[in-house]
Amino acid sequence: MRKAVYPGSFDPMTFGHLDIIKRAAQNFDEVTVSVLNNKIKNPLFSVEERVKILEKATKDLPNVKVDSFSGLLIDYAAEHGFHVSVRGLRAITDFEYELQIAQTNSKLSHGNLDTVFFTAGLEYSYLSSSGVKEIACFGGDVSECVPDFVADMLYEKYNQKHKGETDEQQN
Ligand code: ADP
Repeated sequence: MRKAVYPGSFDPMTFGHLDIIKRAAQNFDEVTVSVLNNKIKNPLFSVEERVKILEKATKDLPNVKVDSFSGLLIDYAAEHGFHVSVRGLRAITDFEYELQIAQTNSKLSHGNLDTVFFTAGLEYSYLSSSGVKEIACFGGDVSECVPDFVADMLYEKYNQKHKGETDEQQN
């Protein structure tokens, strides 16, 4: 059975991520999308929220599972029998960073974890989680970037934040 892992921050998942998930699912028997619990990145959504978003968005994809992990990807992959890590490439700017991670993982795992890249769909290559957050933060339209339920969650987060800031300013 060809099992792959698609690790990432997914803060939050965008249509670009979903496109990669669907295409990976067509190429592997099973794909586990796994949210990296990386406290250094100071994410907007908790790991639990990000997992829930991914579960809801992939509920109709029978060979896609959702999980989370912390620590080194190679350790997580060895534990679960993943020999392939899926990543997405949008532009040349992604390439340098992704190549370095892929080679590091290959070296650290003694060749047991390979990386397979899917190139971003043309209509999604401009999309990034940070871009989507910036648009949503100012109340912009993110309907072409994320599913509606994710857009609602984004606006809710930023409303809460704005409310918190306003309350703080008043005190
Ligand atoms: P990271 O894991 O580096 O924190 P993300 O969670 O945003 O970043 O992305 C996980 C993976 O998905 C990365 O390989 C990234 O290049 C890829 N990716 C992000 N956005 C898109 C997109 N719009 N189209 C294709 N791939 C994407």
